[in-house]
Amino acid sequence: MIATFPIRLTAREKLVDNVFRFTFAPVDHAFVFKPGQYVILHIPQADGHAVRRLYSMASPASRPGSFDLIVEIIEGGLASGYLMRMQIGETLTTQGPAGMFTLPPEPADSVFLATGTGIAPIMSMLSHLAEHHTDKQAFLFWGFPNISSVYLQDELKKIASIHPNFRFMNCLSREQDLTCVTSPAERGYFGLGHVNDGLEAVVGADIPKYHYFLCGGPKVVESLREYLAGKGVPKEQVHFEKFTG
Ligand SMILES: Cc1cc2nc3c(=O)[nH]c(=O)nc-3n(C[C@H](O)[C@H](O)[C@H](O)COP(=O)(O)OP(=O)(O)OC[C@H]3O[C@@H](n4cnc5c(N)ncnc54)[C@H](O)[C@@H]3O)c2cc1C
Repeated sequence: MIATFPIRLTAREKLVDNVFRFTFAPVDHAFVFKPGQYVILHIPQADGHAVRRLYSMASPASRPGSFDLIVEIIEGGLASGYLMRMQIGETLTTQGPAGMFTLPPEPADSVFLATGTGIAPIMSMLSHLAEHHTDKQAFLFWGFPNISSVYLQDELKKIASIHPNFRFMNCLSREQDLTCVTSPAERGYFGLGHVNDGLEAVVGADIPKYHYFLCGGPKVVESLREYLAGKGVPKEQVHFEKFTG
């Protein structure tokens, strides 16, 4: 059974205009999760009921006593609006951990494809790989509209500094400024186009040999699944989480 327990908001940090990192500490509860899992927040409503919203842990599972969520703030959004109004020190009822979008015990060479806050569970997975599986190749292709929407670059560079076989690419789908583009040979690369464009440019003919972890909005995840199937990647090598509303 999934545990229900209170969590206390200990920090809130703006990453870009519409994305914030929230740090929570479980109150009197030893919270253990696998990288890739999520919590279910109970968001209190005026009528006394609570609405439930799911958010993936973005911090390393090895970090004791607290966890981070990376949340897109949506205009009129019940949960994201509530999280923005919470005071530091306030508590919230939570259930967790839950979810099957996790790494296998012995990870293979892997590619991570994220759009927007779909990076959250993947950040936790990448931290785990940097702690335990640096012999395996790990590529991240992360989709943004443009250069001004990019965040978490220092955290990714830190993972790259520990994990010699990790490379990440920020794929800018609507950026007009060509001076943003850097060389694909760099471990933190900026390219134009969608995440599959980055994947093709960097991994190319080797696409079918990797395991894939996809996370983001449902339409993007579906289209990436179709794309990978078209490239001959067996279904068993594709793992995904859809951020359905
Ligand atoms: C397994 C799982 C894990 C998830 N993890 C995360 C996570 O780590 N970070 C994260 O930010 N979200 C995550 N989500 C999505 C999250 O659960 C909420 O659905 C999302 O934050 C919107 O909730 P809300 O209450 O703020 O908005 P709501 O009150 O549900 O929505 C308000 C309005 O905004 C629309 N809307 C909802 N989502 C979006 C969107 N993305 N863009 C534009 N309009 C939208 C709705 O259709 C509605 O009209 C996850 C979802 C799942 C299923």
